[in-house]
Amino acid sequence: MSQAVSEFVPAEIDASKWENVEPLLVALLDRPVESADEFERWIIDRSELDATLGEALALLYIGMTCDTESEKRQSEYAAYIEDVAPKIKPLAFELDKKHAVLASRFDLGERYAVINRDTTSDVELFREENIPLQTDEEKLSTEYQAAIGAMTVTFNGEEKTLPQMGVFQESTDRDERERAWRTVTDRRLQDAEKISGIFDQLVEKRDAMGRNAGFDSYVGYVFKGMRRFDYTPELCFAFHDAIEKHVMPFVERLDARRRSQLGLDSLRPWDLGVDPKGREPLRPFDGGVELVTKTQRVFDRLSPELAEMFATMGDGSNSDGARDGASLDLDSRKGKAPGGYQYMRDRSRTPFIFMNAAGQHGDISTMVHEAGHAFHSMYCVDEPLVHYRESPIEFAEVASMTMELLTMPYWGEFYPSEEDANRARRQQMEGSLGILPWIATIDAFQHALYTNPTHTREQRAETWLGLEQRFGLQGHRVDWSGIENPRPLIWQRQGHLFGNPFYYVEYGIAQLGALGIWLKSLEDGEEAALDAYRRSLSLGGSRPLPELFAAAGLPFDFGASTVARLVERVEAELEKLPD
Ligand SMILES: [Zn+2]
Repeated sequence: MSQAVSEFVPAEIDASKWENVEPLLVALLDRPVESADEFERWIIDRSELDATLGEALALLYIGMTCDTESEKRQSEYAAYIEDVAPKIKPLAFELDKKHAVLASRFDLGERYAVINRDTTSDVELFREENIPLQTDEEKLSTEYQAAIGAMTVTFNGEEKTLPQMGVFQESTDRDERERAWRTVTDRRLQDAEKISGIFDQLVEKRDAMGRNAGFDSYVGYVFKGMRRFDYTPELCFAFHDAIEKHVMPFVERLDARRRSQLGLDSLRPWDLGVDPKGREPLRPFDGGVELVTKTQRVFDRLSPELAEMFATMGDGSNSDGARDGASLDLDSRKGKAPGGYQYMRDRSRTPFIFMNAAGQHGDISTMVHEAGHAFHSMYCVDEPLVHYRESPIEFAEVASMTMELLTMPYWGEFYPSEEDANRARRQQMEGSLGILPWIATIDAFQHALYTNPTHTREQRAETWLGLEQRFGLQGHRVDWSGIENPRPLIWQRQGHLFGNPFYYVEYGIAQLGALGIWLKSLEDGEEAALDAYRRSLSLGGSRPLPELFAAAGLPFDFGASTVARLVERVEAELEKLPD
């Protein structure tokens, strides 16, 4: 494309400074656009500015999370969030409005259909009166995080945060697991009223936002806001039904096996995380360097192309990627933020992976998962529009989750013992379907909440218990006798309900896609699966969701027949694994 390169933004610019950014935003806003060509030029120039702004924020965020003890980095990030971002927002919205008007005047053809659709939809959804409601919503969500973050317990004589308590659910000592579960649950119950109060307000504010924008409820508003143009609440309900009908019998068979291996008549909530054969947790590697070296070998064996992409990301020996352009920061260390993420630096078009590797199997899944996101960005690196270098979550997670599955044959690089490798594979395959009932629970709960915003807490509890009847506790049928109190409040653990409403079903839709590509590798060979992967990822977000799935040879379908087929195939593969 002739106009692909933009020289609108100076090569050397500190885009974290408002005085550098403002003139560019204003220039775009004021620029006369009188033809389709000029409109295209305008879109590409704006894209370059957006990419530059995005990268400025990425660098500040990466810098802060890699070095939480640096006051300078904390304050630089805070200054941007508090002073610069709020100034950009209204101008960006003016640019969106200008884009929508121009899109109705000049026809740029199919190539621009998705960006025009997305921008026009955002403009249509905007309501001045929703701004204070959104501010309230953010405050409430922060209150929830603060309440959860402040929860600690004393266990085995030591003060622990709730995330730190997670490891005790893997303990082979059943008494210890039960004590840990009860300790955490009691702590959560202490604040349950307060958290319900926060949630009541969130539901009320969100309902008001939806109605302000002309919808019957928040559901229609949030579907449009999340750009769910290609599926409806009805299709989500059909997905829930399919999970109930086809995945629940599968997880019930897993539960039966778990019970017999543990020698129990029934499962209690603290019997779900332990290895059913009583083995100690897997320890596949030691340190970030070893993680990267072995992951590289896994990709070397899977695909030369992916191996080369992974190799460009660095050797992991550099623990401060943010400063010199390296792309990995993996080791857990003091002064580093928790968690893991992949963040694309949009202007330089280089990915960055952040992790806190502790030597567990989960770290391998995270590593190849985030690598999948990075491959996605790298396959789209020549796409001029930043909007199209990103894709909808429903497909972006196909890119990452597929890597968790396609790398499985090569996990021997981490597990010299075949027994360990198979144990890890079993865990991966069981988990890829086992997560679906919880996804259905959280999604169905939110549909029920926001279509019935005036429900009382008691009615919500009934809704929750009804869903637990259908989908178990995270898929498991457990014995609650004597511990009924916390049962209707389990939803309070799921942060998405507070901070990212409705953002969850995406993982389920993507999981089906990832399983679909993996099955292709079993049926048509690895090459065919990798071709489908490359073809679909290279489209980025330039096409609507069903076309992205189609490019991978997948139906965009999450109804009963798709789910039933996947369950049957995964179960057949599981049966091949030695026990
Ligand atoms: Zn992901």
